[in-house]
Amino acid sequence: MARRAAPIGTVYLLHFERRYKHAGHYIGWTTDLDARLAQHRDGHGARLLAVITAAGIGWTLARTWTGTRARERSIKKQGGAARCCPECGRPKRGQAAAAQMADLAAEQAACAAAGRRPADLGAARDAYLADLEASP
Ligand SMILES: [Zn+2]
Repeated sequence: MARRAAPIGTVYLLHFERRYKHAGHYIGWTTDLDARLAQHRDGHGARLLAVITAAGIGWTLARTWTGTRARERSIKKQGGAARCCPECGRPKRGQAAAAQMADLAAEQAACAAAGRRPADLGAARDAYLADLEASP
């Protein structure tokens, strides 16, 4: 058989609704995503997914990339699937905004104590809510 170019498929990232031990994600590669996801839903195709399915943990397809198996390896090597997971990025953005709100509230209290004009908390709250709304 002649040597052919590496097949193009889909690299997919699954986000578990809760962690199983240290695992919170699964990255895989397939040429038929629908069939592969159906397999995973039945608890087949990957040992980790069989285990989390047995443990009653659900998962969602967080994102996909088009590419070869080499792409899958390079994405895995970048480490921390959570870093490229939109499902995980969502609460983090909210947390950052909440931390910013807390800082502004502290600043306002400090300004009030010093008799200075306090920071505009209304604008900060609006920005915070807009950030939450903007989360996909
Ligand atoms: Zn995630």
